[in-house]
Amino acid sequence: KVMWPTLLTLFAVLAAVFSLLYLLMRQGARRVIEMQDELQRIAVTDSLTGIFNRRYLMSRANEEFSKLKRHNNDRRRRDGDKAGTVGLVMLDVDHFKDINDRYGHQTGDEVLRQIAARLRETARNYDIVGRYGGEEFLLLLPHTDLGGAERLAQRIVQALRERPCRANGDGSPVTVSIGVTCSDGSEGDDMERAHRRADTALYRAKQDGRDRIVVMAREDAE
Ligand code: GH3
Ligand code: MG
Ligand code: MG
Repeated sequence: KVMWPTLLTLFAVLAAVFSLLYLLMRQGARRVIEMQDELQRIAVTDSLTGIFNRRYLMSRANEEFSKLKRHNNDRRRRDGDKAGTVGLVMLDVDHFKDINDRYGHQTGDEVLRQIAARLRETARNYDIVGRYGGEEFLLLLPHTDLGGAERLAQRIVQALRERPCRANGDGSPVTVSIGVTCSDGSEGDDMERAHRRADTALYRAKQDGRDRIVVMAREDAE
């Protein structure tokens, strides 16, 4: 009987200690989850421009192409419907080396950030916009055919004409060259082929005088 108050105090102290431990652990777990999210974000982001990096672009391209392949195979078995496609838009800043040489690397970096922002604003939410490397950008457009991909490229060029990116206040506006293609992800037109085609289209845009879009259908490349 004399023990009761002591026991109660003991329980109260134990309860307090356990509650405190529980709260601390919960807080710790939350921090770990936050840190994981942050690491995940850093791993897929291009640190200069804040859009996706090349690694993420490539892994998403792989994913989109295998989804497409599966989807189109299923469809063909059901009906002779139009195949699903993914659009590819490759963009390279024109004469970017001159910008660096004339205004410095910092200004060049700022131009890249501006271009990236413009791309992000122009693309739809579910388009995958990334920096492929240097002054080259790649947009992956799920559920988009050649015409749709071309329209996006035109919107990008238009956006850059309406609100030009300039290396300095009164310098000439930065222009871009764009290669556009699309793919159904089939055996005969896998990711590598489609990527190469977009690259070829971009190369032609450069050869033809830059500041333009070249669209290349699968038939054009063969
Ligand atoms: P073209 O019209 O044929 O594309 O000419 P260009 O000068 O844009 O192409 P080129 O490939 O000759 O030069 C690209 C330059 O981009 C060279 C390189 O130093 C620069 N560059 C690559 N990455 C970065 C970067 O992160 N920041 C800056 N400021 N410059 C970069
Ligand atoms: Mg360039
Ligand atoms: Mg380049």
